Amino acid sequence: MKVLKFGGTSVGSAQRMKEVAKLITDGEQKIVVLSAMSGTTNTLVEISDYLYKKNPEGANEIINRLEAKYKQHVNELYSTDEYKQKTQEFIKAQFDYIRSYTKDIFTLFEEKVILAQGELISTNMVTNYLQEQGVNAILLPALEFMRTDKNSEPDPVYIKEKLAAQLEIHPDAEIYITQGFICRNAYGEIDNLQRGGSDYTASLIGAAVNASEIQIWTDIDGMHDNDPRIVDKTSPVRHLHFEEAAELAYFGAKILHPTCVQPAKYANIPVRLLNTMEPTAPGTLISNDTEKGKIKAVAAKDNITAIKIKSSRMLLAHGFLRKVFEIFESYQTSIDMICTSEVGVSVSIDNTKHLNEILDDLKKYGTVTVDQDMCIICVVGDLEWENVGFEAKALDAMRDIPVRMISFGGSNYNISFLIREEDKKKALQSLSDHLFNNK
Ligand code: ADP
Ligand code: ASP
Ligand code: MG
Repeated sequence: MKVLKFGGTSVGSAQRMKEVAKLITDGEQKIVVLSAMSGTTNTLVEISDYLYKKNPEGANEIINRLEAKYKQHVNELYSTDEYKQKTQEFIKAQFDYIRSYTKDIFTLFEEKVILAQGELISTNMVTNYLQEQGVNAILLPALEFMRTDKNSEPDPVYIKEKLAAQLEIHPDAEIYITQGFICRNAYGEIDNLQRGGSDYTASLIGAAVNASEIQIWTDIDGMHDNDPRIVDKTSPVRHLHFEEAAELAYFGAKILHPTCVQPAKYANIPVRLLNTMEPTAPGTLISNDTEKGKIKAVAAKDNITAIKIKSSRMLLAHGFLRKVFEIFESYQTSIDMICTSEVGVSVSIDNTKHLNEILDDLKKYGTVTVDQDMCIICVVGDLEWENVGFEAKALDAMRDIPVRMISFGGSNYNISFLIREEDKKKALQSLSDHLFNNK
């Protein structure tokens, strides 16, 4: 069985939903994971912000506007009054539910319930549309099987067992539709897998059912060799190793959620990135096969802070690094890049929630300096150390950019540069010009 995930733009209008329906009805049994219609989750976040600020009038205005949009989508999507009415009733109930939260205290718990509404509505709309078309489609409620544990990590054993039970209820359905992004946490409360997390849902489901393939359908023809939002002329990369895709996703390639690669990699299930706007384009295949001798792509991750600790007495004596890392660990702050010298160490982090406490603790071990508004540029491909010349090519592209840190050798697949955020565009463009042959 294949698992297909369609992102927000792919289900962003009644017309797009009809096209997705056409794409998925080929007679093969499959699980289809859907995001909320594009813009909806952002609007739900906005509504929550108003409610946090105790402004129910502001929230109600946005709720009413969003509901009106959905009424229009429903009118465009269905051809029969029966399905129009049935879906309108469902949507009205969900919006009334959202409105009920404008009257009481508002916490993280209520926010999670509001954020879940986008996926609950989009999946209801598409399932009803398929049923109206006579397709044997069934809605699988993600809140019945998608669950995280006490560390907020997905619980694969629970997911596998509960999903199998849901599938067994309707063994002959042609299409199982389910919600991306949403889940329950260890306490049974409604929660989510973080923004963009529908990709993660798809790969968790793929691993749970041992799918033959996981397809991520979006608005571009696969992983491009550079960020198409920033750089002129980028091209799709046809094939990536799981590790390469994971590095690119982690270091900023928005097309894939950073956590999405891992479950597929461990279960050895190929992931294909495909374009809903151009369904016949080959896209990108992510698998365990490597393609030697190539730099494949570049990505950038913003909002990075660099911290340098210059050792006062111990000069990288044994135990120094352990003490430094323990400080980051005690504040649950993960480190992205590390560089060492004889007298000190530089690290980069993206979570600055406990920056002040971390800096205070680090100052016990040496002189500490901080650079903010930095950015990691990650060059990905076959970067095994025995390959000669690839690092030089990447460095050459960076020759006019001030570089704060360089990291190479951590994996066989990446070389990373830490630069100022303001130099990002120039760096990405120069890397494209030097490494890829995009006309
Ligand atoms: P979806 O809503 O389908 O999940 P996303 O917006 O999350 O889609 O991801 C697709 C977008 O990712 C593309 O429209 C593109 O602008 C952006 N993107 C960033 N980097 C890359 C890259 N290297 N290759 C392809 N797309 C990228
Ligand atoms: N709808 C959620 C979001 O916008 C999840 C997703 O689209 O992957 O973040
Ligand atoms: Mg996405």
